[in-house]
Amino acid sequence: MTQTIRHHLSDALLTGYAAGNLNEAVSLAAAAHISLCDECRVHLSMLEALGGALVDSGDPFAMTDDALNTALLRLASPKSRSAEPKSRPWVLPKPIRDYVGGDLEAVRWKAVGAGLRQAILFSRGRSVARLLSIPAGQAVPEHGHRGMELTLVLQGAFDDKVDRFGRGDLEIAAEHLEHQPVAEPGEACICLAVTDAPLRFNALLPRLLQPFLGI
Ligand code: ZN
Ligand code: ZN
Repeated sequence: MTQTIRHHLSDALLTGYAAGNLNEAVSLAAAAHISLCDECRVHLSMLEALGGALVDSGDPFAMTDDALNTALLRLASPKSRSAEPKSRPWVLPKPIRDYVGGDLEAVRWKAVGAGLRQAILFSRGRSVARLLSIPAGQAVPEHGHRGMELTLVLQGAFDDKVDRFGRGDLEIAAEHLEHQPVAEPGEACICLAVTDAPLRFNALLPRLLQPFLGI
């Protein structure tokens, strides 16, 4: 599991996460990505140390030497933010396992047609966090987005013409992106998908089914 993660949290998301400003669903996607991604974990520690220094100094435009030293000290001993323990090959990162109550075998999948399965972890207002399982080689219906969609790959990989996304990669689909993710051959692609608003499907059938599937 040493493949390189190439798609990361944006600065805005990372900063929002550090500040505790993200809603629960987006925060879960961020926490899950961070638990798989050394690079974002380091960035987060730096942001937290700097944020602490700014708060300590009271004036963000005049950081005192003391505050800076404190920040550097905090950097030297970053809070033990949990990287995934290597003892067991978990598929689901810890923040997701906490919602599921276990790893993949504990997920209560529901078929949503065409071999796709989903398990809704929770929904809060318009935002929903769900696990998706796309059979190897299969496509998700082409769709656009009414809000932001974050997709974190946990197993397998998908390709949506924008790029390829493998384990740990996070796709941030903005409002106007229309895409059709296709799972790579080999194994089912399992993702955490977080949406801030219902998806917009282009084909008639998924559109008719949408109210029933809750997607
Ligand atoms: Zn990252
Ligand atoms: Zn999408």
